[in-house]
Amino acid sequence: MRIDVVSIFPEYLAPLELSLIGKARQDGLLDLSVHDLRDFTTDRHRTVDDTPYGGGAGMVMKPEPWAQALEAVAATGPGADASAGAPAQKPVLIVPSPAGERFTQAIAHELAEEDQLVFACGRYEGIDERVLEWAAEHFTVRPMSLGDYVLNGGEVAVLAMVEAVGRLLPGVVGNPESLVEESHSDGLLEYPVYTKPSTWRDREVPAVLLSGNHGKIAQWRRHEQYRRTAERRPDLLEAFDAGALPRADRTAFADLGYDVVDGRLRRRPEA
Ligand code: SAM
Repeated sequence: MRIDVVSIFPEYLAPLELSLIGKARQDGLLDLSVHDLRDFTTDRHRTVDDTPYGGGAGMVMKPEPWAQALEAVAATGPGADASAGAPAQKPVLIVPSPAGERFTQAIAHELAEEDQLVFACGRYEGIDERVLEWAAEHFTVRPMSLGDYVLNGGEVAVLAMVEAVGRLLPGVVGNPESLVEESHSDGLLEYPVYTKPSTWRDREVPAVLLSGNHGKIAQWRRHEQYRRTAERRPDLLEAFDAGALPRADRTAFADLGYDVVDGRLRRRPEA
């Protein structure tokens, strides 16, 4: 996969040289480049922002440097090579924004299938809206929010999204099984995990995990997923497909105050 990140603070993306993503780059699993937006300005001061039309606080990122930068990264991406005669696949342009679609694990999986991702890190009050309209001719444009809060710039959001997508690429995470049982992979949060010693500061690891009974361990973990999700993220249970749950799992949900109705979990009204 090819990833291009455009930012006025390229140094902000330095952590992408570390850990699993850094190793994936070294191993050639991920071709990632960071570009300085100011390299695509034409004035002496390398200006990237100006005052907003209509007035108001803050500054807005100017369209022209963005168009130049995005044209440059698209022109060198895998989809730009028309020599093979295959129809060029549009790169995906991800524009971090608190006003974007919420980034999720499901979207990370979708993006991991793409040939080229381009991330446009906004700053100030954001990027002139016409850039997104124009870019739709050349890219699949996806404004994307990390969550319902406001950051100073898109760089932190890009670090999170690149890591979430990058670790799904084949070969990046050593044991691919660890991707299967994670939070959000099946619409639930992950069960609690423990390691040695079995007693630590008078606290015991749950006995079932020491039992060696793999069936019981799997069931305990599933039920812990239900308990934790009901406690911390009950919103996730609304979308959970409970149609095929075995009886023991229905009982676990009943103990948590949920009944299965038409294949969906319904919270029992408080008595
Ligand atoms: N005026 C914008 C608004 O209210 O929607 C916020 C601009 S914010 C100060 C500057 C930049 O930070 C945005 O252009 C975006 O790139 C990034 N950003 C801020 N919050 C974000 C979030 N929750 N998710 C993704 N990017 C975010």
